[in-house]
Amino acid sequence: MEHLSDKTILKVESLNKSFKNIKAVNDISFSLDQGDIFAFLGPNGAGKTTTLRVLLDIIKPDGGQVQWNLNGVNGSVPPSRHVGYLPEERGLYPDIPVMKSLVYLASIRGMEPSEAKRAALEWLERLDLADRAREKLQVLSKGNQQKIQFVASILHKPSFAILDEPFSGLDPLNQEKFIEYIKEINQQGTTILLSAHQMSLIEKVANKVFLINEGREVFNGPIANLYDDFGKKHIIDILFKAPVSESTFQGLSHVENIKWVGDCRVMVTFNQDSGLNKALAELAGIEGMSNITSHKPDLHEIFVELVKKSKK
Ligand code: ATP
Repeated sequence: MEHLSDKTILKVESLNKSFKNIKAVNDISFSLDQGDIFAFLGPNGAGKTTTLRVLLDIIKPDGGQVQWNLNGVNGSVPPSRHVGYLPEERGLYPDIPVMKSLVYLASIRGMEPSEAKRAALEWLERLDLADRAREKLQVLSKGNQQKIQFVASILHKPSFAILDEPFSGLDPLNQEKFIEYIKEINQQGTTILLSAHQMSLIEKVANKVFLINEGREVFNGPIANLYDDFGKKHIIDILFKAPVSESTFQGLSHVENIKWVGDCRVMVTFNQDSGLNKALAELAGIEGMSNITSHKPDLHEIFVELVKKSKK
């Protein structure tokens, strides 16, 4: 095994995993540095959960290497007390009271029970669940169970947390709160690897992304690079007073894509070399516009484009 630099916490090389005839993970490589919030992003069935399970040694890969360098422990298996894991499926006992589960799980990972209880109560208060501490997990709503799962995964203050779909089952307000919690525990010293398919949420929290589709890498790197490389296009959203036809846009140069959102609404993508001024000058000649807004491609739009490119 090669020696990892001090700041590299996890290095994955040429990972492969198949289930019968499904290639769930196809030759992927990536690494995480101390302090990262690294997001695995892709549609259903892309291979995210499979990868996370391999990293935790829950399932064995068919090929490739996983190398951990966590709290002075090196090897292919992470030291369990320094890792937190929020599984995609419910991992806690449904018929045990919430507080009991939380204290038990933190204490087997090395936390003093009294300290675990104090910290758990603090989290439950923040999550508006303090009055549910003695109830069995199964009587809580789906979203509230997810909140408890989250607390269970980070209560012992792990150096590394793997959060598989942390936003699953949460309403938009709670999703936003979770973004803040994830940033907060990261600032307190936890490196984070999370998976999700809501690209709009990942944009707000991650510094690095791994875009995955059908088991393969589509992009891997700092999120800022993704925008530098692909985010220079301008998407101009035009609302017309009356329905428009395709011929309206004939003669525009620098146009890469035209998408109809409705009869009277069109999104025109100008390619990145032309710049906003040229794009606007070209549009100025079009009659019948009632409103115009411009935005940069978001992560979802970039993802769709990268997947298209990777299939060419
Ligand atoms: P989702 O966002 O839906 O959770 P994912 O990106 O986490 O998806 P995986 O759960 O890793 O995707 O699944 C990748 C592929 O491997 C899918 O086609 C899935 O059906 C298949 N797969 C995963 N686990 C198994 C298994 N134990 N047996 C057979 N096939 C499996």
